[in-house]
Amino acid sequence: MSVKVKYSRSSAKPLAQDLESFVVPALSTVERTLGSLRGDLNLRNSFFITAQAKPGDLLAKVWSTSKSELRRVETLGKDEKDPENGGTHPWSLESNTESTLLLFNHNEATQGFSVTISGENTTGHKVYKLEPMQTEQINIRDIVQRRVKDETGRTLPLSISNGQIRWFTQVSGVGKGRLLQSSRARAMARNFSCGTTYVLCAAQFGAGTTTFPVGSQSIEFGYVVGLVCMPQPPFYQRCAGQGAGPDDLNYQYSWATDNTSIAIASTWFDGLASHVRVNGQAAGTANVTGTIYDPANSCRFSAGATGTVQQASVSLNPTTVAPGAQTTVTVTLQPAMAGQQVSLSAAAVSNSGGHQQTSGRPVGSFSNGTGTTNSGGQFTTQYTASAFGGSETITGTINGSNGSQTLTVAVPALVQLFSGPNYTLVGPTSTHPVDHYGTSTANTNLVNIANQYANAFPGGVLNYNDQSLPQGGLFDVNANWTNPHVEHRLGINCDVYQPNVPVANRPTLLTIFVNNGSPNYLDESALNHWHLRFGAAGNPAGD
Ligand SMILES: [Zn+2]
Repeated sequence: MSVKVKYSRSSAKPLAQDLESFVVPALSTVERTLGSLRGDLNLRNSFFITAQAKPGDLLAKVWSTSKSELRRVETLGKDEKDPENGGTHPWSLESNTESTLLLFNHNEATQGFSVTISGENTTGHKVYKLEPMQTEQINIRDIVQRRVKDETGRTLPLSISNGQIRWFTQVSGVGKGRLLQSSRARAMARNFSCGTTYVLCAAQFGAGTTTFPVGSQSIEFGYVVGLVCMPQPPFYQRCAGQGAGPDDLNYQYSWATDNTSIAIASTWFDGLASHVRVNGQAAGTANVTGTIYDPANSCRFSAGATGTVQQASVSLNPTTVAPGAQTTVTVTLQPAMAGQQVSLSAAAVSNSGGHQQTSGRPVGSFSNGTGTTNSGGQFTTQYTASAFGGSETITGTINGSNGSQTLTVAVPALVQLFSGPNYTLVGPTSTHPVDHYGTSTANTNLVNIANQYANAFPGGVLNYNDQSLPQGGLFDVNANWTNPHVEHRLGINCDVYQPNVPVANRPTLLTIFVNNGSPNYLDESALNHWHLRFGAAGNPAGD
């Protein structure tokens, strides 16, 4: 048969040049000496032998000889059409041994070789791209000592001294590899090329954060990594097998969700695994799935997890209470989940209820400010509103999700008293700009009192000071969230200024008070006013 020998070099642009052509007679061996050939540094050469013959009819091997202690190194040829696409072998650096992986791309297209070096419970993975006719040498001692990073940025530990190496191409018949174990000190060189087939056989999901609050952005949900296996007899299925481990070789990765609760935010590839970040769009669950596809072999696998987007909400019953009164607070977690920690907080709405000062504003209190959800995902407690009229926002927090509802704290049915011809409204301040709200009974009586006083003493005008704030409640006239106004909370009180009422007129005015719904006035002369009360005393009473 006619045999052609090519010699490939990798030092510059990889190139295979014709070296020899000769005829091998049937059932015989031909030996050729290639004495004048110069190799590239680091063994980056390969021979490529073709014959016009059927597969298996020709065997070839190359050997090197020298006059040194190591007299002969032999390398068996590998079959280009070998159905196996990779190999694996133990490696060692012990006793000054070198372990060198030699890869050769004998195909016409650039090929990726996935190389995984493992040992001492660590793994390094790198894809080497070889041009046509390129030979690459990968020296493991060099990788360890120079701290060469793999595709994921990891390095092998300096202490590592032995392990397993595997290499493969996506399809068979395009590249070859062999592991050379050599020791200059011991004059030893052996090469191994245990052939194996590797296929993508599964996808494995690694979980990150799979439960998160609604509104969360760019949550690191997890990753998916391809597993390669060795196909098993008797069927040698293309996308199934056993053993091996995580790997990548130009696989394609994609992510999807099956529910709008979770949206894919972004994905990234770390050299071995595809990672996904998600956004929590709405309360609920969604399956987040990563798919790995090997286009060369049409193998496709998916793996993922169910993600849960949690939302806390708060409902109040009732939503309006009088100052100091109670409402029932229910915090609900969706989707419902028992045993989740709940915390509650209250905050006053600034400038609500006629209080323009903001700092130090008190809020009410919870019977239980913390708790856990029941099987319905709910937690219920009581909230006692503050003594101040206004709005208080009740917030429940579960697993980082907040829900809130605003409670109106108000004395019902207060109406504003506007100015009239026979009385002057006094008392507003910058912190309490509107302070003449009262019950309709109080307001009607105040108008009547002023009118009757003017009838009795023509030209007489009364000064009305401080009724109640728009939503009632404690009227901290000094803007410090406390007394001295003790009453003035329910819209039934008003202070009538004394100094502009002549002493001679006062007995008549007191009678007018009594006749117009305020038999229970307090003569607070020391404070220059009468304190009127239309109706039963609020608690506490006075001033
Ligand atoms: Zn008063």
